[in-house]
Amino acid sequence: MPAQSFAPSSRLLARWLDELGRVSDERDRLTRTFLSPAMERANALVGGWMRTAGLAVREDDTGNIIGRLEADPEPVEGARGRKSKTLLLGSHLDTVRNAGRFDGPLGVLLPIVALAELRRRGVVLPYAVEVLGFSEEEAVRFSGAYLGSKAYTGRLRAADLKLRDARGNTLRSVIEAHMGTGKKFTPPARAHAPGELLGYLEVHIEQGPVLEAENLSVGVVSAIACQRRGRLTFRGKAGHAGTTPMKLRHDSLAGSAEFVLAVEAFARRQPQLVATVGTISVVAGAANVIPGETVLSLDVRHPWDAKCHAAQARLLATARQIARQRGLTVQWQPTMDHHAVACSPKLTALLGQSVKTVQGRNLPLVSGAGHDAVVMSTLTPVAMLFVRCRGGLSHHPDEYASPADLQVALRVVVDFLERLARRES
Ligand SMILES: [Zn+2]
Repeated sequence: MPAQSFAPSSRLLARWLDELGRVSDERDRLTRTFLSPAMERANALVGGWMRTAGLAVREDDTGNIIGRLEADPEPVEGARGRKSKTLLLGSHLDTVRNAGRFDGPLGVLLPIVALAELRRRGVVLPYAVEVLGFSEEEAVRFSGAYLGSKAYTGRLRAADLKLRDARGNTLRSVIEAHMGTGKKFTPPARAHAPGELLGYLEVHIEQGPVLEAENLSVGVVSAIACQRRGRLTFRGKAGHAGTTPMKLRHDSLAGSAEFVLAVEAFARRQPQLVATVGTISVVAGAANVIPGETVLSLDVRHPWDAKCHAAQARLLATARQIARQRGLTVQWQPTMDHHAVACSPKLTALLGQSVKTVQGRNLPLVSGAGHDAVVMSTLTPVAMLFVRCRGGLSHHPDEYASPADLQVALRVVVDFLERLARRES
């Protein structure tokens, strides 16, 4: 089907997002997980749209769908003896359980519509473009996140392949089943040498309330925050709730509660720091037993690594102090350590010019959530464009970005592609 058969517009983008939002592993809600039947149907659908926009489509062994548009002229040694470079644009096509339809797919489908728009106008780009639909970012089926972008950047490790899903299948066996009978999976090398690339642009809903509060459709991300997470275990002494006097107790839950409030008070005093205790459980808890062991999570994020590390260290010192005062012990087990990712100053400046042209004002934002751009930054400079979402709501079926905001984002990306073309030609 020729590209002229559809009019690239935000209406088309909204229709595609709706259609893809109905491709689910569950009947009444949107859930798509790594290499599931719905993910295969989603890839078929997105691959079809990519072809319609003139892209050559392939799928890698880990279920990443990749649409490539060659530079014009074809990538040969150019007049300056230089091979055309490639710009990457993308996001993930998997979802959380009971998801909204924008988180992830927006960053895959919007670039396809933008490229179709350039094609309709007869604009040819002096660089190649790859649109990437990553197969896994949300860590729903396997506990390791970013499996798609890790595979693309050559960072999938043997240890990742031993991860198991809820049915006990290893990641390796799931990938090999997807590849077909008798095939053996070897983690791939990175898809490109860094020197072949111009960078990676990810368009994503903001998943927060700042753009809405500022009454802006889009904003450019300056950095993705450092994120450190772990498990704290407070241990005291379990005892009879009726016979142990208050002054003789070593209540692990009361100590944990004091810590939760200390985390909140501390983070409120530190600009740009966010810290959260998101889970808490009493081991073998019962209504008539003094809690002897309590396990809780601590998640700390800040745009700067040093501040993030310092805040975490300070909070752990607070936990130890609370434990000491209450006759408890406390143990820390780290589970996640993602350093902050600074977005590319060059790409971000270019994207900022596009935002100013289309929207009039550019507001730099820090991303408190992790994205595929975190992993992609190990391969090439990254930039991110955030799109306002209603109420800052995400990971929820009511997640929503308006057609007007989609239109602004689409115009920004088209403008960015053209600016980059002027810089590269
Ligand atoms: Zn996402």
